[in-house]
Amino acid sequence: MILNETMYARAARCERALFEEPSEPDDDRASTAELGASILPNAVFRHEVRYAGLSATVDAVYEKRGRRYAVLFGPGTGVRARYLDELEFCRYLFAAAGFPVDFWHVYHIDKKYVRGVELDPDALFVVADVSNRLMKRDGVEQRILRYAALLAAADPSAAQPCGKRTACPYCGGATAKDRDDPATLHKAGRLPEKLASDGISRISDIPAEYRLSPTQRIQRDAVISRHEHRDYDAISAFLDTIAYPAVLLDFEAISSAIPPFPGTRPWEHVPFMYVARILAHPPARSAPNGAVGGKPEKWGVVSPSVCDQQGVCDQRGFVESLLDATAGSGSIVSFGAEFEKRVLRRLAELFPAHASELIERADRTIDLLEPFEAFAYYHPDQKGKCSLKVVLPLITDGGYDGLAISDGGDANAAYRRLLSGRRSGRPEPDEDDVIDALRRYCRQDVHAMDLILTALAGSRRV
Ligand SMILES: [Zn+2]
Repeated sequence: MILNETMYARAARCERALFEEPSEPDDDRASTAELGASILPNAVFRHEVRYAGLSATVDAVYEKRGRRYAVLFGPGTGVRARYLDELEFCRYLFAAAGFPVDFWHVYHIDKKYVRGVELDPDALFVVADVSNRLMKRDGVEQRILRYAALLAAADPSAAQPCGKRTACPYCGGATAKDRDDPATLHKAGRLPEKLASDGISRISDIPAEYRLSPTQRIQRDAVISRHEHRDYDAISAFLDTIAYPAVLLDFEAISSAIPPFPGTRPWEHVPFMYVARILAHPPARSAPNGAVGGKPEKWGVVSPSVCDQQGVCDQRGFVESLLDATAGSGSIVSFGAEFEKRVLRRLAELFPAHASELIERADRTIDLLEPFEAFAYYHPDQKGKCSLKVVLPLITDGGYDGLAISDGGDANAAYRRLLSGRRSGRPEPDEDDVIDALRRYCRQDVHAMDLILTALAGSRRV
């Protein structure tokens, strides 16, 4: 393997990354560079220099009044450390190969940019001259020699761990912890270190009188008893706040460097799909898990087929469909509902004609996460966490296996692929299948909420 700017920047964060599979090409990085190309018409793109068995590529190189400029287009909203790491490598190699550059520029995204009907790349990018910052960086040559030698020796054990154990996927931070591990304690902070200094290495060894938060105490007791904890009164009180007929609502949203629709900003969460299941009555206390089929369901999508090449899509139709599906006076129930509320309020800004209805929907939204966040229900295998995907298989028999799209990242990437296909005038041939897979994924979250609600109803005080 040849050391290049991408690997160098990864190694600068953790040497162990040198021996991992190269990460997938980043959609945002690629689309940002492609858009950037349109504002530098006289530049040479993806300019590569090879020297001494190494390879360095910058997004663009151009000359103006006898000076040479090298450019990196970054999807971040500022000059990221990673960009500087890449560029210090390029700067060193370009100079060594006899291709000197006078100015090093990072074109990053302006987070205040609001997209009009058409994208304005000149307004989207902020240009930062990082030439001086690169000049001041020490040790570049030593790092290049070290990483190249590590790669040549092909000996992963010689790579230094970065020391950021929990934050680094290469240094063991991502390994699964068992439920007795103090690092899993809810809002643990520095508590694991304190426990260690008191000679306590397992949750089950924490003495009853030890100072813990109420949720940590519930967690400790559940680990010791090996049983789930249910606060029947709190669960009943929560269930009583839901007014029927209720709507279980879930959004899928994309977040990207380049705002997808008019009125949207870089990196904001832009909804493109919803699924709404109508529950006429509260779940029966005795209903077995899974007996929730056959309920009326509505869904809507900002269909890529009605997006033109300027990126104008039928978002209004989506909003109208959403309002129709959530009409009525009952509760709207979502899991982690702060997200749904934020989406609804943001749509109200974008569609003033529907603002009062959208805000009314946000006000009617109840958060199914609440009883879990409060540990009114807690299963010892939650390991201090309470996301939908953690809770679902523990409280019910449900899971996310067997779906073509099974996580939010996949959903985001799949929808973006459809949009960019339309915009380039080459629609994806499997568009309908992708939308169907997205709907199944979104529907799965709604179904999960339905199952959880039924399971909670089984925890009512009789
Ligand atoms: Zn590391």
